Amino acid sequence: MGPKKTIQPSNRFRNNEKSVGIGNAFWDTSERNGLAGIVAELSNGVLRTATDHEFVNFSCCSYLDLDSHPRVIEGAVAALRKYGVLDHCIPRSRVQIPALLELEDSLGELFSADAVSAISASAASAGILPLIASGHIGNGTRPLMIFDKNCHVSMAQTKPVCADETEVVTCRHHDLDFIEDRCKEYSQVWYICDGSDSLGGYAPVKELAVLQERYGLQVFYDDSHSVSAYGARGIGYVRSNSPVLDDRTIVVTTLNKAFGTSGAAVLLNGRPKEILRIIERFAGALSYSQPLNTAAVGAGLASAEIHRTSELTTLQGRLQEKIALFDSLVGTEQSGSAFPIRLVPMDDEAVIDAGRRVFEAGFYVSPVFFPIVARGTAGLRVMMRAGQTDEQIRGLGSVLVGVGAEAASPTHARLVG
Ligand SMILES: *Cc1c(COP(=O)(O)O)cnc(C)c1O
Repeated sequence: MGPKKTIQPSNRFRNNEKSVGIGNAFWDTSERNGLAGIVAELSNGVLRTATDHEFVNFSCCSYLDLDSHPRVIEGAVAALRKYGVLDHCIPRSRVQIPALLELEDSLGELFSADAVSAISASAASAGILPLIASGHIGNGTRPLMIFDKNCHVSMAQTKPVCADETEVVTCRHHDLDFIEDRCKEYSQVWYICDGSDSLGGYAPVKELAVLQERYGLQVFYDDSHSVSAYGARGIGYVRSNSPVLDDRTIVVTTLNKAFGTSGAAVLLNGRPKEILRIIERFAGALSYSQPLNTAAVGAGLASAEIHRTSELTTLQGRLQEKIALFDSLVGTEQSGSAFPIRLVPMDDEAVIDAGRRVFEAGFYVSPVFFPIVARGTAGLRVMMRAGQTDEQIRGLGSVLVGVGAEAASPTHARLVG
């Protein structure tokens, strides 16, 4: 026998050596500085560690604080009592209790779509995108799949699987010219991107709609960051602004951010029943893995009811007030955007120390820095929520202005406090 074989990976679409190599250094530095691996109890919106350090979380995506809304909690308990089982374990395509159908009806009505539930947006995208690749969601033609360079990892991670079924390419962020050129070349093209991204950007839904009209382009949006926080009844950025909400568009959204519960919804329009069946039977984890449990369904039903009342508008308005207050204290590139996320830019070297001082002052904000983001784009990521008090925001603002004045990278600093 000769020497044993060693394996050379192709790494065409993923590279753990690079991701772990880069990412682990980031996490180690964060944890060493007390800014990761934090354990704390939550009470009345304040977190407390075992050593009695109290802080307010300014890095939580429950933008409307619906996750602790009394009616959402009650909804979870009520559904458990009503159905009497947490999860009747069997694939839903065989046997299911009516709970999921009740939630999907409610979400479908709320978002004006056929809604398919999933345990997470990640599971939904991992299940749906390979069916798009093989032409089973669509007209049977294997499409060219164009993934936006910045699309969320939950979509990007499906590239190798999709590439086993069809051709996959990655384009520069929102590169409409590239997409149009490919539309001229291929009989069927899908574009995969975030509807609203984690740094406050929005997909060019109107420009994409032109390509959808002209070439039959299909678009897969993940609008997790804006659903509930944005739009009438919380329908999110894409469904508020895209003129093409038919069988050329699919929207996936988590229910775990501003919606305030668990799970996710796939929102489809104009797709025949057979395609919905294919999804139920073949969309990966949506078929073979556990569905949302009854408590999550009950919480979701309650949150959907809140979305139908003026309380949602009140909460959205309150969130906008908090965002405006923050913007009046700390200037960022995102200032003025309706989106609840702000990045206070700083040098790579300064950001960890700044994050630690903000934490010591009683606020958690996420430091992002090289190597997890490109050099020159480091900073403290701040997220506003409707339930934060003005006093908390003013407190954070003054600490940020203090640390920012020393640490801000000169090219980005626009502190107005
Ligand atoms: C947060 C987020 C997710 C993750 O959602 P899960 O339901 O927890 O999987 C997916 N996509 C985007 C764009 C997100 O912001």
